[in-house]
Amino acid sequence: MSDPDHHADWQSEYRGALMPVFGTPQRLLVKGEGCHVWDETGTRYLDLLSGIAVNSLGHAHPAIVEAVTEQISTLGHISNFFASRPQIETADTLLSLLKAPEGSTVFFSNSGAEANEAALKITRRTGRSKIVCVEGSFHGRTMGALALTSKAAYRAPFEPGVPGVVHVPFGDEAALRAAVDADTAAVILEPVQGEAGVRRHPTGYLTAAREATSAVGALLVLDEVQTGVGRTGHWFAFQDPEIGEGVSPDVVTLAKGLGGGMPIGATVAFGSAVTGLLQAGQHGSTFSGNPVVTAAAHAVLKTLAAEGVVEQVSQVGTAARNALRGLAEVADVTGAGLLLGVELTDGRAKEVAAAALEAGYIVNPVTASRLRLAPPLIITEEELLGFVRALPGIVASAHRAALTAQAAEEGAS
Ligand SMILES: *Cc1c(COP(=O)(O)O)cnc(C)c1O
Repeated sequence: MSDPDHHADWQSEYRGALMPVFGTPQRLLVKGEGCHVWDETGTRYLDLLSGIAVNSLGHAHPAIVEAVTEQISTLGHISNFFASRPQIETADTLLSLLKAPEGSTVFFSNSGAEANEAALKITRRTGRSKIVCVEGSFHGRTMGALALTSKAAYRAPFEPGVPGVVHVPFGDEAALRAAVDADTAAVILEPVQGEAGVRRHPTGYLTAAREATSAVGALLVLDEVQTGVGRTGHWFAFQDPEIGEGVSPDVVTLAKGLGGGMPIGATVAFGSAVTGLLQAGQHGSTFSGNPVVTAAAHAVLKTLAAEGVVEQVSQVGTAARNALRGLAEVADVTGAGLLLGVELTDGRAKEVAAAALEAGYIVNPVTASRLRLAPPLIITEEELLGFVRALPGIVASAHRAALTAQAAEEGAS
């Protein structure tokens, strides 16, 4: 542990064995409990990102540990030639939390991208192929989901992509309405854009999306991969009257927080007409609805409900937002519940996130000037306010480090 080459050791091993797509991580983590994780040197961090909005019940939550342990030691995997109780129960629970109408159904997959791939296949069954998405959107990295994703830098190296996708400017209701025509199969959007920096659409936007799609018989697909399962202080973001404006979607996709750390995605078809678009044999996945993973998801949903966590998310989120807004270092706070964008007065989000890590906090520099906070949904107000109190010192040390680096650069040139 006192070996100065220790870091270099695992980092070079990492680089020697893992594809370079993620860059080289800065810490090797060995343990997690509650809202904390520990690295291999024993340093503890408050996890304010939770594996990118995934560890909804924090780390090593007994409800998930028990559900997974019991299921894997009873019946681990079966294939979809057979059914399992956890799969049926989880789908049932999801449909009731979604308040989905009669005839609604769930397709399980293993990730957010796959949840969106299934949604995309549903939209193709309308007989149309034009898809309208929004600039700044992120829908995943597989070829179909990538075509829906806005960032050109993600898409360009892999062109040609799935054709027929158009991206309309963010927040421009008229542009959205103009883009949706008789050839449009669907509008696909995130109720709150996560990767774009935790951005909310302007008031009226979701209503416009619903009206425009309904008028031409197109589907409205809501990507709740990041916002779903309690993250925004409602079970699903579209159920927040301010975000969802009371619209009823045709398809909702979920993943991230649903499994509490186990890999699961879900595509929900609202009503029998949408359910009927995918017939037997038209889609599938070996791991779809795997008993262990759905047992974990069921444990997550049951625990969130039994412990009133979703209401707590709303309260703790509001407290954090108010406290952050009181800091001179913070220009604005965006988002909802415990999905927060912290716009820094002096930018430098990357340097601030690095300084936060040094100070024992895991946060994400989601844009050049904004941090994303997506802590476990069970985080307490006190834990989160501890970070808010530490933030001015963290920002100051990031600025000192930036000045030192600048001076060194100037000295070298
Ligand atoms: C993360 C994310 C995805 C992709 O999920 P993966 O599990 O990484 O494939 C899709 N949509 C949204 C909104 C996301 O935040």
